[in-house]
Order: sequence, then structure tokens, then C-alpha cells
Amino acid sequence: MPDQSTQGSGRSKGNKRKNNNPSICICPRCGFEIDKAPGVNCRSIKCPECRVPLMGK
Ligand SMILES: [Zn+2]
Repeated sequence: MPDQSTQGSGRSKGNKRKNNNPSICICPRCGFEIDKAPGVNCRSIKCPECRVPLMGK
């Protein structure tokens, strides 16, 4: 049996993806920005000023 455990594929884990602002919603009208919780759809949030659904950035 070939020994594959010692010659692993290196460190392929730990892929860190850091987008700048992955969780920001913005108002298409006035440009109001808000941090959203992960998994929340921006369109379910409304701008407090314009009362329109926000958009993902
Ligand atoms: Zn707005």
C-alpha cells in the first residue's frame, strides 16, 4: 500500500476568503448602507429613509 499520508497534498485547507464588504446592503435611491447579518437577503431590508428594498453591493 503506497504511503499517501506523509506525502499529503500540502495545506489545501484553510482557504480564507475575505471580501471587503461581503455583507453590506445599499439603498439604490439614496445610497444608504447597512451591515447585514450573514444569510440575510438585502431585499428583505428596507431603507429607513426611502422605504425601498436594499440591494446587495
Ligand atoms: Zn434610501
